[in-house]
Amino acid sequence: MSNADLVKRDLSVLWHPCTQMKDHEWLPVIPVRRARGVWLEDFEGKRYLDAISSWWVNLFGHSNPRINLALAEQADTLEHVLLAGFTHEAVIELSERLVEITPPGLERCFYADNGSSAVEVALKMSFHAWLNQGRPGKTRFVTLENSYHGETLGALAVGNVELYKQTYSPLLMETISVPSPDCYRREPGESWHDYSVRRFEDMESTLARHADEICAVIIEPLVQCAGSMRMYDPVYLKLLREACDRHGVHLIADEIAVGFGRTGTLFACEQAGISPDFMCLSKGLTGGYLPLSVVLTRNSIYDCFYDDYRKLTAFLHSHSYTGNALGCRAALATLDIFRDDNVIEANKQLAAAMHETSECFREHPHVGEVRQTGMILAIEMVQDRRSRKPYPWEERRGLKVYQHGLENGVLLRPLGNVIYFMPPYVITPDEIRLLADVAHQGIQVATAG
Ligand SMILES: *Cc1c(COP(=O)(O)O)cnc(C)c1O
Repeated sequence: MSNADLVKRDLSVLWHPCTQMKDHEWLPVIPVRRARGVWLEDFEGKRYLDAISSWWVNLFGHSNPRINLALAEQADTLEHVLLAGFTHEAVIELSERLVEITPPGLERCFYADNGSSAVEVALKMSFHAWLNQGRPGKTRFVTLENSYHGETLGALAVGNVELYKQTYSPLLMETISVPSPDCYRREPGESWHDYSVRRFEDMESTLARHADEICAVIIEPLVQCAGSMRMYDPVYLKLLREACDRHGVHLIADEIAVGFGRTGTLFACEQAGISPDFMCLSKGLTGGYLPLSVVLTRNSIYDCFYDDYRKLTAFLHSHSYTGNALGCRAALATLDIFRDDNVIEANKQLAAAMHETSECFREHPHVGEVRQTGMILAIEMVQDRRSRKPYPWEERRGLKVYQHGLENGVLLRPLGNVIYFMPPYVITPDEIRLLADVAHQGIQVATAG
């Protein structure tokens, strides 16, 4: 079997996600034969360093022997059983451990099978909890500009990335959106902290004005990943937690992308010392192996639904694969690796290596900013370093970096003109250097002319 055969068969029957399929007339899809650690390998033996963790899901490398073993054992015992009326060891143990490692107060786990569905669950639960408390007027959600929470209609409605949202806007519920604390927008000389505090004024006044009709604020803690890896200071989360309490509004933390160590702590909320009312997890939850998601919430919210059946207050939401046993087992094996290998501590050195290798971008005439939060590093490619004038999107310069990366054995997948590294935690400092070198050349190529 060759790459070309598979590409041909693929293009005659598949429709790929987030893709203008016509691009594949000149930009081939890459068939992956196998993968190990940070490396993907195609059918001709060409290797690609997976610098973006296969869309931010992979944590401990592809085909990780420890997760493989746990999955094989689970498959031999129980692959799946419905979670209504039934339960199993893997989902119980996973729930116990998630309650233990997430911020205090999150005591209940509700499962779904992908990130967008977890967001839908949190939105519905928040609304429904208020309804069950006799507050039917609370029907609206507050979101940040430039936020992303998934692609299903509810999740899309609370997101704010125009490219994904605008087409479907006639179908979407209305939300209240508030300017983002995105520190790329801060004034010269202003600190992340000061800018984030300043931006909170809009949130405060919105909550003060609309609290009676608001169910919850939904937020991506510390990094707006799909929104070009824009970052802000933890102080914003601290202020938000305090304001949500004061105004009687739930706080939903969407840690689907930033959870499991990406920001340098196991969960991003830890850096602000806060506990949300709902926390959505997916992506890294299974180490990048299987689709699984979970919403953690407080017992006080769970109690709003707990009553005699005929009161009809139950949360009647389900997905067929809710709490899938294989997914839960992969998640447990992932948590074992975090515990046994002291990963969060070890990642500090990798984050420092990422910082070091990114020096070469800082003075580049076409780089407007290099920013980093833990294991996420982003490079903003611009026309002019000083004015930060962006390149017109039609020029697709990020795509040129992508192509250069592939030619040189690195999978980068820029978000527009933002090149970023979000590698699996098994990457080595040498591989980080390789990745930075290729990205640097890629920017040279993409910004020439
Ligand atoms: C990826 C993502 C989602 C959606 O998860 P899917 O599994 O792709 O549906 C939601 N929120 C954030 C912050 C994400 O990065």
